[in-house]
Amino acid sequence: MKILVCGGAGYIGSHTILELLSADYEVVIADNFSNSCPEVIKRLEKISGTSIPYAEGDLDDQSFVDQLFEQYGPFEAVIHFAALKAVGESCLKPIEYYKNNLISTLNILDSMRKFGCHKIIYSSSATVYGEPEHLPIAESVGTSSATNPYGQSKIINERFLEDYAKADPEFIATALRYANPLGAHESGEIGEEPNGIPGNLVPYIAKVAVGKLDHLNIFGDDYPTPDGTGRRDYIHVVDLAKGHVAALAEMNTRKGFDAINLGTGRSYSVFEILNCYSEVCGRKLPYEIKARRPGDIAENYLDPTKAKEKLNWTAQYDLRRMLEDSWHWQSKNPDGYTSPADSK
Ligand code: NAD
Ligand code: UDP
Repeated sequence: MKILVCGGAGYIGSHTILELLSADYEVVIADNFSNSCPEVIKRLEKISGTSIPYAEGDLDDQSFVDQLFEQYGPFEAVIHFAALKAVGESCLKPIEYYKNNLISTLNILDSMRKFGCHKIIYSSSATVYGEPEHLPIAESVGTSSATNPYGQSKIINERFLEDYAKADPEFIATALRYANPLGAHESGEIGEEPNGIPGNLVPYIAKVAVGKLDHLNIFGDDYPTPDGTGRRDYIHVVDLAKGHVAALAEMNTRKGFDAINLGTGRSYSVFEILNCYSEVCGRKLPYEIKARRPGDIAENYLDPTKAKEKLNWTAQYDLRRMLEDSWHWQSKNPDGYTSPADSK
């Protein structure tokens, strides 16, 4: 069965490609490489020993998406990872974010309709819950209003899927609401490589550990948490990738729209992450306490019960393993995918 993986060269998409191949799916990647590069595909081919077809192009362009279905289809399902994803940048460039993240989804749905493809998995996020009233967060609380255009684009895209599922009885959609992905494939060949200075905690710590950045800035130590720093639900990217394979199987058992959390059901603080990374890389990593980051919340973590019940999926990897795999990738590729061959 052939799966179209939109944004498949990115961080979560690339790890999902490997899990799909292991589960004997055929894959086609569509990506414009705006936040990735063709080297990712070479590495996926190296790890899997398989040639991976891909099309470079922009999913905002309907004719490109139609052509994908014409040239590479028919597809059993689409997995849609492609999006711009930096929260802060989305506040500065709302039009770019809405155009990229919403139009690509509408184009994909339109081509699916034209070419008779009925299943889609959509990359959503814990951000759709906004500031939680109760922890852990279960799907049943429904989506809130997001504080930034990125989060809002996730909520709107979920709504597109929900509305289309009401209109077409054959349509099956799953929005997977992710916790914070960490880590990398055990090979150390693929991993997370954000553009510029990382905005997220662990990619930033990884750059400190590899000597590219001086110290970690901790955004606030006065939150109402045991050590005063923010707490989040962190999940190994390979666990997340496996969740997509489980979700594909579950879509054979129902119709319509559903939303499912992929998280671990527990949180870690910034200090817990930093201390564990220091142990893993063998060096005490320096930090400075700074003001809280605007828009941050004290704590969130997802209730993974529905994923266990419906997908028979549970996260397997613990925090230490996530950080060991992050360090393996980062130390092997200090400059990410542009690292010279002799550093690998
Ligand atoms: P990523 O940036 O590494 O991957 C996204 C990929 O999509 C990139 O390869 C990029 O080049 C491609 N892309 C973007 N816009 C495109 C377009 N218009 N046409 C073609 N390709 C396009 O991001 P990721 O971390 O792998 O995230 C994947 C998905 O998961 C995103 O939708 C993101 O919002 C969501 N998500 C990510 C996180 C996280 O912390 N990484 C958390 C929750 C949800
Ligand atoms: N954080 C931090 N320094 C950084 C980046 C993040 O102290 O350089 C903190 C942030 O305030 C939050 C936690 O680390 O409490 C996770 O932040 P991240 O951006 O990785 O995830 P998100 O806030 O989007 O869940």
